[in-house]
Amino acid sequence: MTATVIDGKAFAAQVRAQVGAHVARLGMDHGLVPGLAVVLVGTDPASAVYVRNKGVQTVEVGMASFEHKLDAATPEAVLLSLIDLLNADPAVHGSPVPLPLPAHLNAGLIINAIDPAKDVDGFHISNVGLLGTGQKSMVPCTPLGCLMMLRDHHGSLAGMNAVVVGRSNIVGKPMAQLLLGDSCTVTIAHSRTRDLAEVCRGADILVAAVGRAEMITGDHVRPGATVIDVGMNRRPDNETSAGKLCGDVDFAAVREALGPNGWITPVPGGVGPMTIACLLANTLTACCRSHGLPEPQGLTA
Ligand code: NAP
Repeated sequence: MTATVIDGKAFAAQVRAQVGAHVARLGMDHGLVPGLAVVLVGTDPASAVYVRNKGVQTVEVGMASFEHKLDAATPEAVLLSLIDLLNADPAVHGSPVPLPLPAHLNAGLIINAIDPAKDVDGFHISNVGLLGTGQKSMVPCTPLGCLMMLRDHHGSLAGMNAVVVGRSNIVGKPMAQLLLGDSCTVTIAHSRTRDLAEVCRGADILVAAVGRAEMITGDHVRPGATVIDVGMNRRPDNETSAGKLCGDVDFAAVREALGPNGWITPVPGGVGPMTIACLLANTLTACCRSHGLPEPQGLTA
């Protein structure tokens, strides 16, 4: 018997349905339409796919979708002026600027120019600080999606041992903060961690956010644990020139090692679909907060 697969695609559809129902109520009761304006600078292919999917799903849940596509050579001052306009626009409740940005732009400066209340990616330094001090913030979408899946499967996470592999600002660190906020005992591992496999075997919850194809093997888990695979990597294959999408976890071997009481997310169809669902959830939350209305339950940390 192998571990049960957590269906992120189905769960993301549930989250979007919840968001859609709340958006409909906001319209009926208050005449409000949450608005999401994405600013895409340059031609990064992953960002372009993300923006396209986001636009479709934003409209499907009844929100207003705005897209600003800027040339890769756009001067910093022009981008900052657009962010100022979006900050002042009452129809816009979320205005993410997908990373990476072209090299001549200072990503920190750009992200911190976004109004923290509209920072639905949760990357603004104010939101990072609020999350780190356990206060209400905008929470980065990918870790938020992981947290929602974990809560859905376990209920309370209190007292569980969680190991997060990866310490990036956009995934590893906020993931660790969220797990700490839910009273897990948290270890953050990274490229300098000694005996990673042994550290990981101590986990009830193992989150892999590394960016290395299938590096987490059966040797890294103990039976009955829950494994969340954030990785999105391309493994060379003979069928597609782009390579096959795979996670940071060797899915088949780890699923076997976890045994019948374990849980595991697949790639694709695990964390990925939750990221856009959480962007929509964050935009709804931002809209409610900006109008002093109660926040939807279960859609934020
Ligand atoms: P990142 O900024 O490159 O960070 C990777 C982290 O992994 C670093 O902290 C690094 O440690 C650590 N690491 C690298 N090699 C390691 C090793 N051999 N053992 C242990 N730790 C190691 O990556 P990221 O932005 O966090 O993204 C991680 C993965 O998640 C990528 O595959 C990315 O595509 C994916 N991702 C998916 C979504 C989604 O929606 N599903 C969203 C965001 C990211 P050091 O700090 O010591 O270098």
